[in-house]
Order: sequence, then structure tokens, then C-alpha cells
Amino acid sequence: MYRNLIFGIDTLVPIRNGKKVPYINFDNGATTPPFSSVINGINNFAPWYSSIHRGTGYKSVLSSDFYDKSRNVVLNFVKGDPRYHEVIFVKNTTEAINKLSYRLFEEDKDDVILSTFMEHHSNDLPWRNKYKVDYIDIDTFGRLSLDDLEYKLKKYNGKVKLVAVTGASNVTGYINPIYKIARIAHKYNAKILVDGAQLIPHYPVDMKPINSNSHIDYLAFSAHKMYAPFGTGVLIGPRETFVKGDPEFVGGGTVSIVTPDFVIWENPPNKEEAGTPNIMGVVALMASIKNLRDIGMENIHEYEELLTNYTLEKIKNIPNINLYCDKTINNRVSIIPFNIEGIHHEIVAKILASEGGIAVRSGCFCAQPYIQKLLKIDPKDIEKYKDDSTLPRPGMVRVSFGLYNNFEEINIFIELLREIALNRE
Ligand code: PLP
Repeated sequence: MYRNLIFGIDTLVPIRNGKKVPYINFDNGATTPPFSSVINGINNFAPWYSSIHRGTGYKSVLSSDFYDKSRNVVLNFVKGDPRYHEVIFVKNTTEAINKLSYRLFEEDKDDVILSTFMEHHSNDLPWRNKYKVDYIDIDTFGRLSLDDLEYKLKKYNGKVKLVAVTGASNVTGYINPIYKIARIAHKYNAKILVDGAQLIPHYPVDMKPINSNSHIDYLAFSAHKMYAPFGTGVLIGPRETFVKGDPEFVGGGTVSIVTPDFVIWENPPNKEEAGTPNIMGVVALMASIKNLRDIGMENIHEYEELLTNYTLEKIKNIPNINLYCDKTINNRVSIIPFNIEGIHHEIVAKILASEGGIAVRSGCFCAQPYIQKLLKIDPKDIEKYKDDSTLPRPGMVRVSFGLYNNFEEINIFIELLREIALNRE
């Protein structure tokens, strides 16, 4: 429906028989193509850009002003509060969560971080080795268990510092009830981090007023999943979090006074953004936020839900398909994980690309513990892969739609998938 908004949408790609076909990108969960408005925004700003916070020249002042004002545009998009929140520009969600894990780190070995079994590794590994980490379990459908959340918060008796949860799963697409989770976490004096990498491009997000109790304390997301290029991410959190302590990256931009004997840090956010800031990345993000807002996040969700339900309806009539997300759960973003029985996921993905020009992802999508649970693999059985890198690994095929995909593309995909499933040998 929103096809004309995407830059390079009509690109043809070669397939096996030398033919060229339109590229069908069903791998938007990894990265989305850019909006044309983003490319135009970059081109229009290019003659004007200059170094941020480092010059008195016209272009430098203009760039610095644009960069600083962009923080409020971000806050506005997710209904944060500029009186209370700090917006830190980083490289991506992974860097944002790593940064937070350093920032929150205090030498209290009793602190517990509650992550979940449905996290991307980027919201699991940064917490390990710094804290005691425990994982909220999932139910038989693969959804987060709120009973287990409450059970673990009670069990750790006030020691849980943070509940680190994804807004939407990059494997099953399930949207987590983040406001409910926030209320439960706050009841036990824990804060909540929402990994918004998969939620923000598909669904309206509201950080909510801090006295509402269902507020989101920390939010992280990546521009490259929001129709802007790589290299820009966002971490939002209470200003007080970033005031204390030393930044993990130090150098130019982070300091107010330096002598051979002492250092006084800048105030946040500058203290947290070491080196020359990425102005063009922020210009791109601003253009993508404007475009997303112009379309309306509710409209995006509604349209993508149609695409997802249409695919689920079609896919269930194909024999030999195992689906790993429950069809009856409708609170989801546009992601569908599956396997064809008897064919390795990597082969299916390769055939889709070589026969139909269809891009999907296969493997574990950086969420191995979740995949192990969904495939009912005992983690002990994973040991064998340590010694033999040639063993075919377990995993799934994932299709993930963006706002520009359409029903014709899905029909082409379904027909090819049916052929693969019927001709497995
Ligand atoms: N969290 C989730 C849920 C993701 O899907 C991803 C990327 O796929 C990430 C975090 C990491 O994002 P990035 O690679 O932009 O840091």
C-alpha cells in the first residue's frame, strides 16, 4: 500500500535461470529499505552538515542545533518527557543496551536483572557477567508468562533492579504487554527496559507519565529497522541514570574540564556520546520518524496485520509446514516463523531466493534460547555443536513484512512455498 514511499522499490534481482525478477523483501525484521523521504532528507542536508558542538561557523551551529533539537522529536514520537528523560544517540539497539548495562552497574553483586527466554541476544548477553541474571519463562504458545514474572519478582524479594523485556519478539512477532509488565515490575520497585527494536517500526509506543506506574523507564531502538540507514540508535532513560558515574567510552565531547590531574564530565547526554556525533544518521532518523508519523503508526499496524493474517490463512493450507507462532494470537507484529518438515531451514531460504527472488531469514535470529524452547530442544543437546561446526544447526525460516509489502508478493511466496513443500526429497 505504501510502496511508493520506499527508495529503490522496483529493483530487479537475478534468480537461478538468469532471469531478473522484482525483489521481494520479506526480511524487514533484520533491516528495512529506506524511505525516499529519508534519502531526500540526507541529500538536502548534505550541503549544510558540519561538526557538532565543535565550531562557531554557520554550518556547525546549524548542524548542532538540528542535532540537539532532534532529541525532542524522538521524545515526542514515543511520548517521553523532556523534563525527565534523556535521549542518547548511539549506533543501534545493541549499543544502547550495552550502554545501559554499564550505566546501571553498581558493585552490588546481589542485584538481579530479569531478562526473558524470548529475548534477542542483545537484550540478554549485555546483562550477563555484570549481574545475576534470571529469565522469565514462556508459556506453551511461546508467549511471556506474567505469572513467572511475578513469581520471580517475589522470589528475589526486592533485589530485581530491572526487568529487561522485548516490546515484540523478533522470532514469533508476539507483542508483549509492556504496560502491564511495567506495573508489575514497579510494584516490586524494579524498573523496566523495553527493547523496542521490533516494536517501534510497527506499533505506537507511549513511554507514559512516570507517575502512572505503567510507565516505561528505558527504551532502546534502531533506525535501520525504521526505514533509515544503519548507524543510528536511541537509548532513552531518566536523566538521573546518566548523571552519576563515569561513561564507558571516554574522549572528546564527554568532558567539561580536563587537567593532567582530574576530569570533570559533561552533563548528559553529551557525556554519553563520545567522539564526533553522527549528524547525518540523526537527519535520516528525523526524516523516517516524520514519515512514520505522517502515515500513522495505527495505520501501519492495521495494514501489516492484514498482510500477516492473510499469510497465516494461506500457509495453513500448505502441507508439511510447522508454524511456530499461534494463529489465534492477534497481538503481534508482522513476523511468521516456520519450517517445512524434512527440509533444513537454510535450504528453504536459499530456494526462495534463487527461484523467486524472495529474501527471508533462516537460522536462530540471534535468539537461540527462545528457538531452543520453541523447537523443544534440550539445551544439553546443543553441546554437540561446540565440537563440530559442520553439523547443520537447528533453526527456522522467518518472513517479516514491512509497510510496503503487498498481497501479490505474498501470493508469489505462497505458491513457491507450496511447491517446495510438495516436492521435498
Ligand atoms: N532486539 C531485537 C528484538 C532485535 O530484533 C534486534 C535486531 O534484529 C536487536 C535487538 C538488535 O538490533 P541492532 O542489530 O540494530 O543493534
